Amino acid sequence: MSYRMIKKDGSCLVLEIAASFISHTNPGIPEGIICFIKDISVDQNEAENILIESEKLKVAGQLAAGIAHEIKNPLTSIKGFIQLMKAEEIPNKKYLEIMEDEIHRLDIISNELLVLAKPHKHEVNKHDLIKIVQEVIYLLEGEAVKKSIQIKSVIEEQKMLILCDIHKVKQVLVNILKNAIEAMDQGVITIHMSKNRNNALVSVIDEGCGIPDEYLDHLGTPFFSTKATGNGLGLMICQKIISEHGGNISVQSTQMQGTTFTITIPMTKD
Ligand code: ADP
Ligand code: MG
Repeated sequence: MSYRMIKKDGSCLVLEIAASFISHTNPGIPEGIICFIKDISVDQNEAENILIESEKLKVAGQLAAGIAHEIKNPLTSIKGFIQLMKAEEIPNKKYLEIMEDEIHRLDIISNELLVLAKPHKHEVNKHDLIKIVQEVIYLLEGEAVKKSIQIKSVIEEQKMLILCDIHKVKQVLVNILKNAIEAMDQGVITIHMSKNRNNALVSVIDEGCGIPDEYLDHLGTPFFSTKATGNGLGLMICQKIISEHGGNISVQSTQMQGTTFTITIPMTKD
C-alpha cells in the first residue's frame, strides 16, 4: 500500500509499504512480520512535474498552430508597406509606424510562445500579476479573434505584486482563458482584476455554454473532459499550481449563460 503523510513543514511524504508474515517453524502460523518502507515522494513529485510539463507542451503546440496564422498577417502587411515605400522617394512616417507596431506584436507573440513552451526550473520571484495577465491576453488574442470573441480587461488596481513562478502562473492563465474560448462561439470574455484584503483576484468571465451542476464537482479531477479532443488535465494542473502559490480557484457557472473562474493569490509588499 502507499501512504501519504504530512510533515511538520507542511510538505507531503509519500511512503510505499510492503509487509508480509514470517512463519518459520510452524508453516501457516505467523511468528513475525517483515516490513519494507520506501520513501517515494521524490518519484511522485517528479511524475507530477513531468505531467505539468507535458500538458504545457500540448497547449503550446495547439497555440503554435494558430499562431502561424497570427504571424503571417503582420508579415503580409509589413511586406505590403515595404512595396509601397519602394515606390516613393521619401520614407512614409505613417507606414513606418504601422510596420513598427506589427513587428512589436510579432516579437511579443513569439516570445510569449517560447516562454510557454520552454522547460523551466522552478523559480520564485516578485512579479506584477497585471503584467502577467496582459501578456497572456496578447498570446491568446489570435485564438479569440478567430471565433469572433473579444477579450476585455477591467483592472481596478495599478499594481498587484505576487511571489510566484511566472511560467507556472502563465500556464494557469492560458489554460483557463483557453477553456473560456473553447466554451464560446462568439461574445466577450471579461478579465476582472481586483484586490481583496491581501489577495489578488483574477476573474475570467465567459459567456459560454456553462457547466451543468452535476459536473461542477468533477472539475479538476484528472481526465474529466467533455471535449472530443480534451484530456481533462488542464484544471487539475491549474489547481495544483495555484495551491502551491498559497491560493485557490473557485468556479461559478450558469448553463447557457456562462462561467466565471476566479483565481485568488496572496499578494506581497513592494
Ligand atoms: P479539457 O479542456 O482538456 O477538457 P480541463 O481540465 O481544462 O480539460 O477542463 C475540464 C472540463 O471542464 C472541460 O472539458 C469542460 O467540460 C469544463 N470546463 C472548463 N472550463 C469551462 C468553461 N469556461 N466553460 C464551460 N466548461 C468548462
Ligand atoms: Mg482545458
